[in-house]
Amino acid sequence: QQIQFADDMQEFTKFPTKTGRRSLSRSISQSSTDSYSSAASYTDSSDDEVSPREKQQTNSKGSSNFCVKNIKQAEFGRREIEIAEQDMSALISLRKRAQGEKPLAGAKIVGCTHITAQTAVSPACLGWDTSFSLGKKVPSDSKGAPVLPGVAVFAWKGESEDDFWWCIDRCVNVDGWQANMILDDGGDLTHWVYKKYPSVFKKIRGIVEESVTGVHRLYQLSKAGKLCVPAMNVNDSVTKQKFDNLYCCRESILDGLKRTTDVMFGGKQVVVCGYGEVGKGCCAALKALGAIVYVTEIDPICALQACMDGFRVVKLSEVIRQVDVVITCTGNKNVVTREHLDRMKNSCIVCNMGHSNTEIDVTSLRMPELTWERVRSQVDHVIWPDGKRVVLLAEGRLLNLSCSTVPTFVLSITATTQALALIELYNAPEGRYKQDVYLLPKKMDEYVASLHLPSFDAHLTELTDDQAKYLGLNKNGPFKPNYY
Ligand code: NAD
Repeated sequence: QQIQFADDMQEFTKFPTKTGRRSLSRSISQSSTDSYSSAASYTDSSDDEVSPREKQQTNSKGSSNFCVKNIKQAEFGRREIEIAEQDMSALISLRKRAQGEKPLAGAKIVGCTHITAQTAVSPACLGWDTSFSLGKKVPSDSKGAPVLPGVAVFAWKGESEDDFWWCIDRCVNVDGWQANMILDDGGDLTHWVYKKYPSVFKKIRGIVEESVTGVHRLYQLSKAGKLCVPAMNVNDSVTKQKFDNLYCCRESILDGLKRTTDVMFGGKQVVVCGYGEVGKGCCAALKALGAIVYVTEIDPICALQACMDGFRVVKLSEVIRQVDVVITCTGNKNVVTREHLDRMKNSCIVCNMGHSNTEIDVTSLRMPELTWERVRSQVDHVIWPDGKRVVLLAEGRLLNLSCSTVPTFVLSITATTQALALIELYNAPEGRYKQDVYLLPKKMDEYVASLHLPSFDAHLTELTDDQAKYLGLNKNGPFKPNYY
């Protein structure tokens, strides 16, 4: 369901002041599927001996309402956030535009998202009077986040599945504090609230969901008539799909593979499963370094795109014996099966850039006949009885989020979109949104993009009145149809 953006975005882009211009704290529209690690790292082996859940830690404000690996790293984290802010100018400009106004004043946001210096910039920028709890799933560095004022962080690198749900529970179940907004990435937090604390929804004004999986769950709930608050599907925003999925993966696939395996790509044979946005990014990067790239696809359109881009489209079984690297990017499950793994050549590297941990059938590798050897952090050699080794990265979880850094600038685009979705849902007057899933209007996507243009000193051409009339467009946008 695409919502109409009735207000003139020009109006919104004016600086909100108290003198009658449009305020950010008013609603800005009338109607309308793992973890990042941070660039620098620290090692403190004593940290790893005790579970953060067992530690007694207090922050500089005397609060113990958080759980991170090592609160002593807070200063280091603060500097990391400052570095991240350098390349997140759009969020900073959003904060500037809100000076004096507090579009999220009174918002109590419970979030389950990746925690890094970059993702910490967003709550820092939105943090005016906001209470924000965060939980996080797959390995990530939690340094940085604990220094955010008003943010209770429950997350650390290397959380177990049990830790993950414990962190979520601690974020939701807080004495004397109840969330009124949900910021989710994967749908796990929303699921937990539905399952354990359904009464919390009485106060929730909306859910902002970032991932394919989470959005899928929301649509299922809506279809079953069980969605009890409005939800914003940020995942399908054009600013997410066209930037996060494509450009982020284009930059981080090589980083993740290099850091873990030191592989040289020139002349290597690589098969990329799925030629959507993520697959296109991976293929472009690998091709540029001289790798021989094969693509597998189920969709003839994407397959044709791969052909036109100069890639051989094959079935995985046709190339599985010869390739040096297998990368999944489909959002699907069991794309790489035990049969494929059995047929791979010695030292073949297998990793996932797509959805969570479903794409590679890792469970089929946890069998008595196979030996697992941890050779580096996030790198396992799975050894067959005849001595063949397959190099499995991040146990089949997202490679870039587990093993490399994610470009700050791309995260800024996603974070700005999320921020606008939160502001919109929080400030929307009663009745604007029903218990349904909504997309951000195209005009807001264009606004997010325009906030990032000054970083490149990019100068937009303005339509003349005559041209606007000729194209049937409003001079201030939206410039593209909703399906673009
Ligand atoms: P997409 O839908 O554009 O592309 C997925 C492609 O895989 C489609 O073209 C589909 O036809 C194809 N496909 C599905 N099943 C297949 C199979 N069995 N074999 C071969 N091809 C198959 O999606 P996308 O934007 O490219 O995202 C893909 C996945 O990556 C999603 O799960 C998304 O959440 C995830 N993602 C990861 C990152 C990251 O940082 N690693 C970033 C964004 C998205």
